[in-house]
Amino acid sequence: MNKRTFLKLSGALMGGASWTRAFGRGLDEPASAGGLTNWAGNFRYGTDNLVSFRSGEQVREYVRGHDSMRTLGTRHCFNSIADSRHVLLSLKPMDQVVALDPKTSTVTVEAGVTYGRLGPYLHERGFALPNLASLPHISVAGACATATHGSGVKNGNLSSVVSAMELVTPSGDLVTLSREKDGDTFLGAVVHLGALGVVTKVTLDIQPAFDVSQEVFLNLPMKQLADHFDEIMSSGYSVSLFTDWRKGQVSEVWVKSKSRAGSNAPKPADLTKYGAARADRNIHPIVELSAENCTEQMGVAGPWFDRLPHFRMGFTPSSGRELQAEYFVARTDAVEAMLAVERLRDRVGPHLFISEIRTIEADNLWLSPCYKRPSVTIHFTLKPEWNAVRNLLPQIEKELSPFKVRPHWGKLFSLEPATLRSRYERLDDFKELAGKYDPKGKFRNEFLARNLYD
Ligand SMILES: Cc1cc2nc3c(=O)[nH]c(=O)nc-3n(C[C@H](O)[C@H](O)[C@H](O)COP(=O)(O)OP(=O)(O)OC[C@H]3O[C@@H](n4cnc5c(N)ncnc54)[C@H](O)[C@@H]3O)c2cc1C
Repeated sequence: MNKRTFLKLSGALMGGASWTRAFGRGLDEPASAGGLTNWAGNFRYGTDNLVSFRSGEQVREYVRGHDSMRTLGTRHCFNSIADSRHVLLSLKPMDQVVALDPKTSTVTVEAGVTYGRLGPYLHERGFALPNLASLPHISVAGACATATHGSGVKNGNLSSVVSAMELVTPSGDLVTLSREKDGDTFLGAVVHLGALGVVTKVTLDIQPAFDVSQEVFLNLPMKQLADHFDEIMSSGYSVSLFTDWRKGQVSEVWVKSKSRAGSNAPKPADLTKYGAARADRNIHPIVELSAENCTEQMGVAGPWFDRLPHFRMGFTPSSGRELQAEYFVARTDAVEAMLAVERLRDRVGPHLFISEIRTIEADNLWLSPCYKRPSVTIHFTLKPEWNAVRNLLPQIEKELSPFKVRPHWGKLFSLEPATLRSRYERLDDFKELAGKYDPKGKFRNEFLARNLYD
């Protein structure tokens, strides 16, 4: 990294407490200025009143006796989706695996479990999840609540493998919802944005353990990508593109290939035929940063849980001090949508650490941004320059408006609520479901009121 880049990056990343104060307000302002923040530090929750629980019974008793609250996962959302003015509930101490059932190929976990804890547990017993997000630090319950995703043309988001949930409803009752028993209602409940009550257990579909090896290719010309998008995105089990949009190229293509556990790494994809160069060392998505935080590359096979995320457990994921926004488009619109963002490169570039493009298979979860739409996501890891980002997001959204984008529920966006609502055909059904479970709005916060309701 040259000295100028280093100073620029460290200036952005080292703002510390003053940065939190300066950029403490999201597009959606927190209700009051407490001291408790989200992971990125860009959002202060509206209360410091955090209550932790060790059992579902404790959760039930508390919920029954109180009027207004929200549940926190690991606080990795960038907006006010998890916020409350009154009380935040934490299930962090509830982090046990409850049951692994080889017969039904499922694992049931308490809501505080992170993917970083679950991955090695499953692998040691010969099992795997089909996919993971870019980082293992997030909770299973919090990730599935917002339809968090990884990449892969045939891989659904992380919520798509939820097969059952145990929920403490706003009245304090305990209900179990399952794909098998509850049909369409279950499909409505999985991506719930925290609106239905407190999820205390989640059951996930599992499969036999597998290995993954990842290769990184550098400097893929954008023209080649536009001409061969489907082939390139299908060149591995999970493929991610990183670009700053500036040089008419994708700076890095990460290709993750699947193989049988313990077998040799498969013959890697070869993207040199599209004009990219094979990386000769491990590399960070933000090329200036050390790859120490990243999972092993260079085609070395390893367990799925240690390759599917880009970032390693125990290390800071991504850049650490940043803002994130992400938009889902139909896969058929991906190339046009990318070219639209590229046209904004002079406006986006100065505020961007890096963009990532990924694919996600369609699903039928009512509030999933991939609902009935094979999707491509265009993600922005932005510098923590709140005023600039606040001006930039509407410009990006305007450029992407022909593609009817759906923003990531847990990241920053400025889309008009009416527009957002029009992008979810089952939204009214979801509101009816939420009304049934939570008629008094115990779990409704300002984010939900503004974005889902009038
Ligand atoms: C560095 C970084 C990298 C990221 N990478 C990705 C990525 O690769 N792909 C992607 O899609 N997203 C990514 N995200 C976004 C993140 O994964 C999601 O926002 C996710 O929802 C965060 O989960 P969490 O456990 O932190 O939940 P929180 O942010 O704490 O909460 C999220 C939502 O879940 C609800 N909730 C949490 N637990 C419960 C519960 N037990 N019961 C009821 N409701 C609950 C909350 O009320 C809230 O509405 C990234 C974020 C960061 C900071």
